[in-house]
Amino acid sequence: MRKLYWFQNDLRLQDNPGLSAQGDAEGLLLVYLFPVNRPWCNTTGMGAQRERFLRESLLSLQQALSALGQNVLVLEGSPELVLPDIVREYGIDEVATTLTPGFYERKTLAVLKSRLAVPVRVFEGNTLFTQEDLPFARDELPAHFTPFRKAVEKLLIPSPLAPPASLPPPPAARFHRVPEAAVKPHTALPIRGGSENGERRLRQFVFEEQLILNYKASRNCLDGLDGSSTLSPWLANGGISPRQVAHAVQQFEASRERTESTWWLLFELLWREFFHWRALHDDVSLFRLRPAGGRKRLHNCTFEPRSYARWCSGSTDYPLVNALMRQLVATGWMSNRGRQIAASCLVNELGLDWRYGAAFFEKHLLDFDVASNYGNWQYLAGVGADPRGGRHFNLEKQAQQHDPQGLFVQKWQGSQPAQPEFVTDAADWPIPQK
Ligand SMILES: Cc1cc2nc3c(=O)[nH]c(=O)nc-3n(C[C@H](O)[C@H](O)[C@H](O)COP(=O)(O)OP(=O)(O)OC[C@H]3O[C@@H](n4cnc5c(N)ncnc54)[C@H](O)[C@@H]3O)c2cc1C
Repeated sequence: MRKLYWFQNDLRLQDNPGLSAQGDAEGLLLVYLFPVNRPWCNTTGMGAQRERFLRESLLSLQQALSALGQNVLVLEGSPELVLPDIVREYGIDEVATTLTPGFYERKTLAVLKSRLAVPVRVFEGNTLFTQEDLPFARDELPAHFTPFRKAVEKLLIPSPLAPPASLPPPPAARFHRVPEAAVKPHTALPIRGGSENGERRLRQFVFEEQLILNYKASRNCLDGLDGSSTLSPWLANGGISPRQVAHAVQQFEASRERTESTWWLLFELLWREFFHWRALHDDVSLFRLRPAGGRKRLHNCTFEPRSYARWCSGSTDYPLVNALMRQLVATGWMSNRGRQIAASCLVNELGLDWRYGAAFFEKHLLDFDVASNYGNWQYLAGVGADPRGGRHFNLEKQAQQHDPQGLFVQKWQGSQPAQPEFVTDAADWPIPQK
């Protein structure tokens, strides 16, 4: 049987159940398709740093596969348009991939299935647990994080799978090396895509430098690599799996010490898990301004282009927000605290529709993950799962607390000359002086 495995956010050999299940094929074609923009606005696409990280992840995958006599065919275009042709051209008998939680990605998969005459197998592989492990059906998923956490935190996290020792040979295809990205990593966040680099960061954070022991205190630090694990870019692209991270932490706890900080990292992985399952449950509601059941807040559904442009370019009246946005565009990174502050500013100070903020994050974040990004934005705007009324951060207080000497603002040139008030209504337009 000739099989095709379609890589999505699982760009790794180790702990990849979908890939490991392809071992019995007589021939195996591995394919990756560059992501396609979301349909409703053009603020998405990919920022230069996000694209760089993805290209590096693909190059690293190609290198790891070449040691097994394999390669991955990297193509562009919509999966439901491209894959049927590939299936025909190579005489494929079965297609497999790993589940992604986004509504549009699953819709694409459904259309693809309807256009293929061969079976499509969908594996679970980017979460700590599978649907079968969970103590509730998908439609009974808790709406709030705490009951979810309490129900799953005692479950045994399955051990990560070893990489396959061999893979079936590829068909004769025109494989090409993924072109290098046009930009280099920013010196402020010199991280590169690929499993090897993700595993190295995991070892460094947990075992070698034991930064994990200080994680609870340092996780709100605004600069990458200083405080939190910075593992999310690899988790989002699939260079490492959440089970690898959880097992490293559990191994550390068993062999060295278990602290509140080690527990906290596992706790954060459960947030990732929660948003994944919520995205599957919520379907298209994940992208609604006010999903049904969300708290009825008086939210603007506006696209005020000048305020939005100022937020995106880091030229608002809030130096800390400016610095954060400049950091994001330059490096593809923003800390969790930074994301909360910038998002709160967009929703509360600028009164904009949260989805525009989420789309801009989608464009630039190295670790863009549809469930975590849109789920966190909804949470912050007070409209999604666990809608505890949203979060309104006092920006001045946040600056005092997280950047007391203004070093972060200075580093990213967040201080701007005062901006002129914009005319927001035609009735306000000044009458020209004669
Ligand atoms: C508005 C907003 C948008 C976000 N968008 C994304 C996104 O697109 N992709 C993404 O991976 N995370 C997103 N997050 C969650 C969080 O900010 C990042 O996961 C975290 O900053 C990544 O840094 P780290 O790896 O050092 O995290 P650590 O603090 O070291 O945590 C370890 C891991 O736990 C998970 N995690 C931690 N916090 C969260 C959280 N709040 N929600 C879900 N998972 C979490 C991540 O996988 C992370 O790598 C967003 C948060 C906000 C407030």
